[in-house]
Amino acid sequence: MIKLDHISRTFKVGDELVHGLDDVNLDVDAGAYFSIMGPSGSGKSTLLNVLGLLDQPNDGEYLLEGRNVTELSEPEQAEVRREKIGFVFQSFHLVPRLTAAENVALPLTLAGIDHEQRDEQVNKVLEDLGLTARAHHRPDQLSGGQRQRVAIARAVVTEPVMLLADEPTGNLDHHSSMDVIDILEGLNKNGITLLVVTHDEDLGRRAHRTIRMMDGKIISS
Ligand code: ADP
Ligand code: MG
Repeated sequence: MIKLDHISRTFKVGDELVHGLDDVNLDVDAGAYFSIMGPSGSGKSTLLNVLGLLDQPNDGEYLLEGRNVTELSEPEQAEVRREKIGFVFQSFHLVPRLTAAENVALPLTLAGIDHEQRDEQVNKVLEDLGLTARAHHRPDQLSGGQRQRVAIARAVVTEPVMLLADEPTGNLDHHSSMDVIDILEGLNKNGITLLVVTHDEDLGRRAHRTIRMMDGKIISS
């Protein structure tokens, strides 16, 4: 489903070139569950950002479901991102003023879905993730684990084909981390392709395959 062919992403910092990704090749089948591990600065987030079309490589090709998405215009990429890709971050990135349900509804609102269908989809995903009783709570009225569950609900309400999670348990205690991992793995069992960046060897081992990165390169997979 995903194929990266000689992907590089360099950043210019002052006069220096930093290699975020250095000639990365990767194949991911639909329905796979990968963990991505490696020291800080090894390129894990850059890889996820490129896969999520949040960042552009300088070189190489990215095929998503057989389509070369590196060639698409910015609005076309935004559409692919909206339809196919869900993102979960370490620090949740919820809108503080909005309730859980309103946060989850955001991507559907942005996609112009009418409010009846929107409410139906939001209620279903809130129920699936055990958040119905928290629907009208704002993020500051929720625990870290509940916030991440809301963020996951928002990521999957559009029914993406892949879910990219960048250290989703990095700010959570052990109990909440296991809760979040259970939810992500449940989504994977239902068919979503799951890529999770983690520092935690125990969590990393749960994936079907682990990609190890160093200095912008995949050193084992
Ligand atoms: P990781 O997520 O594994 O900690 P990153 O992908 O964030 O690593 O970063 C990989 C390398 O690219 C690091 O050397 C980092 O400093 C550099 N980098 C990442 N993003 C930027 C950016 N926006 N500007 C400059 N350098 C960046
Ligand atoms: Mg990172």
